[in-house]
Amino acid sequence: MAHRDELLQLMNSKLESSRVRDYCPNGLQVEGKAKVRKILTGVTASQALLDRAVAEQADAILVHHGYFWKNEASEITGMKKRRLQTLLQHDINLFAYHLPLDIHPDLGNNAQLGALLGFGDISALASVEPIGVVRQTQLSAAVQLTDMVALLQQKLERSVFVHDAGIGEIRHIAWCTGGGQGYIDAAAAAGAQLFISGEVSEQTIHSANELGIHFIAAGHHATERYGVKALGEWLATQTDVEVVFADIYNPA
Ligand SMILES: [Zn+2]
Repeated sequence: MAHRDELLQLMNSKLESSRVRDYCPNGLQVEGKAKVRKILTGVTASQALLDRAVAEQADAILVHHGYFWKNEASEITGMKKRRLQTLLQHDINLFAYHLPLDIHPDLGNNAQLGALLGFGDISALASVEPIGVVRQTQLSAAVQLTDMVALLQQKLERSVFVHDAGIGEIRHIAWCTGGGQGYIDAAAAAGAQLFISGEVSEQTIHSANELGIHFIAAGHHATERYGVKALGEWLATQTDVEVVFADIYNPA
């Protein structure tokens, strides 16, 4: 068991969350009970994750995608009312870390995806702020696009969207998890032959063709499972709180 504020303190300092400017509050988004025995981690604080937390008698939820985004409506109605009501009725804390959990050098979504794919010598792309939101690696031997597609599909256990830019083999790979497809231009400028993100936009394909860089969209949810999972596992080593990861199905 740990106190809510102790958990908050531990995660805030590990992720240095106060140093990152973001589109949502990072840390404790909804206050619940003071004493926490069990935490449920997941990508997004959807109703399905909240219902799982209630069923599993979790005292806190820890996610990458929480609430209160910069441009969202401030009225508490409909879907938002039901979500907040579930949390408040069951006195469940909601912790959320967005950009701090994308960029962290060990626990971050981008670092974790690189590790999952077995990449060595991972560094941050210096041209994109906040530093760490796009990461890169230089391979010791060139690979084909089909090899990378097979690797991603095996590790993420799903099919991926592929665009072959017709530039041949790959030595330099850059990636940004989630909705990071807009960074394809920065990846091409850095000299990468492949850019991997979670989602694809119409304009991504034009950039791929005109800048000469292969592109793979491997799923927003699938590429962002690993940061929050790693943060939860780290938290379990720092306290005696039980931490359980829930992978709520999302094909996007
Ligand atoms: Zn995301």
